[in-house]
Amino acid sequence: DWSKKTRSELISEEHRKVHESEWVHNLEDFINKELCVWCRVARGEWLSGKIQSTSGDTACVMLSSTEVVVRVSMEEIFPANPYILEGVEDLIQLSYLNEPSLLYNLRVRYSQDLIYSKAGPVLIAVNPFKNVQIYGNDILSAYQNKALDAPHVYAVADAAYDEMMREEKNQSIIISGESGAGKTETAKYAMQYLEALGGSSFGVENEILKTNCILEAFGNAKTSKNDNSSRFGKLMEIHFCAKGKICGAKLETFSFDQSRVVQLSDGERSYHIFYQLCAGASPMLKERLKLKAASEYNYLNQSSCLTIDRVDDTQKFHKLMEAFNIVQIPQDYQERAFALLAAVLWLGNVSFEVIDNENHVEVVADEAVTNVAMSMGCNSQELMVVLSTCKLQAGRDCIAKRLTLRQATDMRDSLAKIIYASLFNWLVEQINTSLEVGKSRTGRSISILDIYGFESFKKNSFEQFCINYANERLQQHFNRHLFKLEQEEYEGDGIDWTKVEFKDNQECLDLIEKKPIGLVSLLDEESNFPKATDTTFANKLKQHLKANSCFKGERGQGFRVSHYAGEVLYDTNGFMEKNRDPLHVDLIQLLSSCKCQLLNSFSTKMRHKSPKPATLSDSMNQSVITKFKGQLFKLMNKLEDTTPHFIRCIKPNSKQCPGLYEESHVLQQLRCCGVLEIVRISRSGYPTRLTHQELAVRYGFLLLDTKISQDPLSTSNAILKQCNLPPEMYQVGYTKVYLRTGLIGILEDRRKYV
Ligand code: ATP
Ligand code: MG
Repeated sequence: DWSKKTRSELISEEHRKVHESEWVHNLEDFINKELCVWCRVARGEWLSGKIQSTSGDTACVMLSSTEVVVRVSMEEIFPANPYILEGVEDLIQLSYLNEPSLLYNLRVRYSQDLIYSKAGPVLIAVNPFKNVQIYGNDILSAYQNKALDAPHVYAVADAAYDEMMREEKNQSIIISGESGAGKTETAKYAMQYLEALGGSSFGVENEILKTNCILEAFGNAKTSKNDNSSRFGKLMEIHFCAKGKICGAKLETFSFDQSRVVQLSDGERSYHIFYQLCAGASPMLKERLKLKAASEYNYLNQSSCLTIDRVDDTQKFHKLMEAFNIVQIPQDYQERAFALLAAVLWLGNVSFEVIDNENHVEVVADEAVTNVAMSMGCNSQELMVVLSTCKLQAGRDCIAKRLTLRQATDMRDSLAKIIYASLFNWLVEQINTSLEVGKSRTGRSISILDIYGFESFKKNSFEQFCINYANERLQQHFNRHLFKLEQEEYEGDGIDWTKVEFKDNQECLDLIEKKPIGLVSLLDEESNFPKATDTTFANKLKQHLKANSCFKGERGQGFRVSHYAGEVLYDTNGFMEKNRDPLHVDLIQLLSSCKCQLLNSFSTKMRHKSPKPATLSDSMNQSVITKFKGQLFKLMNKLEDTTPHFIRCIKPNSKQCPGLYEESHVLQQLRCCGVLEIVRISRSGYPTRLTHQELAVRYGFLLLDTKISQDPLSTSNAILKQCNLPPEMYQVGYTKVYLRTGLIGILEDRRKYV
């Protein structure tokens, strides 16, 4: 149906309009006055040049670097900003807000190690991949004393703190970006700042940062994108007492990636803790857990990557032990946790033998299975039964049916995943117990959210769908907030602002959430059909969702969603299975029979509170997507009650290397993290703002007859009139003048030609 435009088509149309409007007043100027433009040939890098002439849809541009003249389509030419605007702190100050100008501005700053910039209310952080001397006590105090105000994560934390104290309102710092962009590091700097500001005699503030060490050991891993990639989202809520001192904290985690425990891609590692334990455990501990080198374990050696450059796992293990003590996890519990890690490792070495021609198996009784049983504190015979059979109810009797090789392997892997994920959740609980000093619900808290950003790969599956869904929600939160801020500023300064047209992403959220025919409900409905397949699911989507303009069906198992950050092609392959995530009752029973207290407590969590054995609680019966949605709603509810501060992290290259700025990679992220949306919104208003004083200082001398009046507002009016600027291009407020895009360039020209 080609008459129905997708959202991304609408957006690109809008970009085109913006593009045209940038030229409307001054294409002639650009030619006559030989002003610089950005242009590109064959979608290459953006180059600076000057327009020589135009004819129809093309122009001849002389490139600044080589003085070669090239012919370029007008669509590939954008006005460049005047030199005084080079490397501005806030992208909104740019007179021309086109993509090449944004890219260039960030690049200029990046090359000077100015990794932080602003896009209106949003902080942009470009990962330096090296130590930059912009942190530590001196800089921290400078921000604290307001001696520095350049864009910085410290400034964001400072603003959040001030606002919290002033307005007694909870604050949040929302950090997003792609894997390896620097979210977790940025979150740590924000915590560091708040800890310095809110230090108290409780001593909790020292603990908050230390908890990162534990979380990273158990929840981070080396991936192809980041040597220290967080495989979970986290919200750290820091509580302050009335005097502004830290009095406690609470940690919440989201959608922990369990599959990494049993399955690795080439060149990636499992969770750091496994390698740290194998390398750093004392000989005594090693002996007790029958630990071997990491290379001996199938779960670890499958990816042929056991170490990380410049990382010493032994040393990290010792750091972890220190952190355990600070968080006050008792010695015996630490050991139980290590035993469970050993159990997981040995589980990966458990093997099966096929015993008939239907591929049924039994467990090979070797050291692997013995060691698992020992570490879990269960009977090894029982363990072997659970791993190779399933119980079926036949009338009143319960019969055991042998599993096939595939089923048994899945069962074994499920057990490993359950143990590890439960262990992770248990650690989060331990951390919370130790951080919970004085509970305060006084409207004085700052929450720091570190969560994966929008993802779009060649192949996108269930995981990407969940992540992008969460980001779509966060984007809505962001839009509403930004919109409100803009409106408040205009209204507060008394300027007439006929409402800026504002596009929400509600339609995309409807596509996902609407009941009964949104993506989530349809997925759950289909997951409940025993006969449903990924193809029937794909067909169902096509049948029910075609009316939504954010949806496009594809041939076969695919479908497309127009997200705020771009269109993503999803493959329904695996959606059903990943959404069902069956929890085996037999496994839970096994856990409850173990001598290990930790395992018992895990199994109780999974069970119903009622005495009826082996029924699963409602929350365990929920599908994965429904649970995810529930968590997301809880998170959004919490965030709605806070004043948000946004940080968007940008990864300048895919090689994790310093000094390299890959334009197309950066542009992709600017689009994904909605920087262009911010720009778009600011576009509809008056992006350039100068105080009356600023205007008078720079352009006051243009006034011919009138003396500069004492009243700054009338001076501004006089200057703007004198310059003969179209009245619809500016507004004069109580404290500032507001200029439409491009106007500052005209003013600069007047200055030059006086
Ligand atoms: P993921 O989504 O995979 O968890 P992330 O966005 O949390 O990724 P980080 O782990 O914070 O990414 O950063 C990746 C690496 O980039 C860090 O290990 C560090 O080497 C470098 N890095 C990030 N931010 C900074 C910074 N401000 N200064 C110096 N190096 C940094
Ligand atoms: Mg991270």
